[in-house]
Amino acid sequence: MTEQKEKFISILEKNRVSDRSEDLLEYGRDWTRKHTPDPCIILFPKTADEVQQIVSYCYEHNIKIVPSGGRTGLAAAAVARNKEVVVSFKKMDQIRSIDIESGSVVVEAGAILENVQKAVSDNGMFFPMDFAARGSCQIGGCISTNAGGLKVIKYGMMRDLVLGLEVVTPTGNRLRLNSNVHKNNSGYDLKQFFIGAEGTLGLITEATLKIVPKPKNLQIALLATDNFTTILEILKSAKLKSLDITAFEFFTKPCLQAVLDHVHHCRNPFAEIYPLYVMLEIDCGDRAEDLQYFVESVEHLILDGTLSLNHQTFKELWAYRENIPETILKLGQIHKNDIAVPISSMPSFIMKLEKMIFEKYSAFQVLLFGHIGDGNIHVNIIDTTRMPMEAFTKITDELDMEMCRLIKSYHGSISAEHGIGLLKKKLMHLYRNPEEIQMMKNIKSVFDPTNICNPGKIIDI
Ligand SMILES: Cc1cc2nc3c(=O)[nH]c(=O)nc-3n(C[C@H](O)[C@H](O)[C@H](O)COP(=O)(O)OP(=O)(O)OC[C@H]3O[C@@H](n4cnc5c(N)ncnc54)[C@H](O)[C@@H]3O)c2cc1C
Repeated sequence: MTEQKEKFISILEKNRVSDRSEDLLEYGRDWTRKHTPDPCIILFPKTADEVQQIVSYCYEHNIKIVPSGGRTGLAAAAVARNKEVVVSFKKMDQIRSIDIESGSVVVEAGAILENVQKAVSDNGMFFPMDFAARGSCQIGGCISTNAGGLKVIKYGMMRDLVLGLEVVTPTGNRLRLNSNVHKNNSGYDLKQFFIGAEGTLGLITEATLKIVPKPKNLQIALLATDNFTTILEILKSAKLKSLDITAFEFFTKPCLQAVLDHVHHCRNPFAEIYPLYVMLEIDCGDRAEDLQYFVESVEHLILDGTLSLNHQTFKELWAYRENIPETILKLGQIHKNDIAVPISSMPSFIMKLEKMIFEKYSAFQVLLFGHIGDGNIHVNIIDTTRMPMEAFTKITDELDMEMCRLIKSYHGSISAEHGIGLLKKKLMHLYRNPEEIQMMKNIKSVFDPTNICNPGKIIDI
């Protein structure tokens, strides 16, 4: 047994230190499959004290660490491919306390999002972060990626929901960065650095999160259309009518087709398949008829539409959107982008984007879906011809460069919510100017002077 493994066993118990090949493979990567995992060991601490001991030892011995949450990330940010030590938060999954008056919940970093939602709901309140990976992703991962999801239009991203953090810095210090106060202007707000840092500035061990009153009466409309301008008109109209919009999502025809083909309980909601679909979820409160009136008011814009009538149809309508990420993986090799542009520029941006992709390779299928109410679309390029992976990667790399320039011309973002990780790192120099990148490197070196914490992610030092 190596000295390193012995040390980790002395900090943890033997059964929470693993170098079994199945574990190295499983915990050495996230949802992406572009990199070969090759960590040296996987550690499962149960307490912040254990995390601190692990990090202190790694700092003293210049051992690289990759923090690992639920491994649902889509940017290869939790990938360990250079013999790093993986620190998994799987066993730090406690929900410690819920404080309704303060509007907060305290959780360990490894708490699964869905469990937090449920615990908060059981106490009569609502934790609004939500997306399809809710059953696997952890709060620490959501914070480290500054996750967005389905309810951003009303409640904001993870950054807006974090009140306080406990972190272990790469030099082995344990910091409590704010706790349960909603207002704190005492100098720099250091916790913000760790939100969206993809584990490069330290390890989050605990979080205090905001909770809010439950929505009273959520209802959903699925509307079909054939152009993006209409989608924006619907959004504008809903805003002007002061509807309490809690989600505004869209997907294209091939996305729905994929769901209908692969999810047996999903049937076409309409008699035909239309080019575009928009999902509008609102909190109707005591006015259950609000959504019906709204749909009638936009009837002249849409090709067809349907409403949730009860809890069952509510779930059925959400199922179309929620099954998309998993089912489109079955269509062929896939290349994903997660981009944002100002909402009002969406129609012209998408037209140029599709033209650019088809000119490059007309056999690609382009599937678009996402959080259009936030100006965020997931661009999925699918190669159904199953060309060799190297050839596919070469074309999609070139496309990424062109797409990045297009996004920049719209003052948008190359990563709306999934982060940079390893996957989008090569685009950073096109998107951020050299001064910004240098500033990021300076910040990294303040927190992590020996570059041991998730090295190689976001930027190279
Ligand atoms: C089907 C599906 C749908 C999705 N939908 C959305 C969506 O709508 N919106 C969205 O934003 N994302 C979405 N994602 C992406 C992903 O689920 C989120 O990025 C999620 O926040 C990652 O959490 P995780 O626990 O799986 O983190 P991981 O993938 O394990 O890690 C992500 C990053 O966080 C770091 N990290 C993890 N835990 C810690 C910690 N305790 N301390 C420090 N660093 C840590 C890792 O090192 C890595 O850099 C989706 C993914 C899937 C598979």
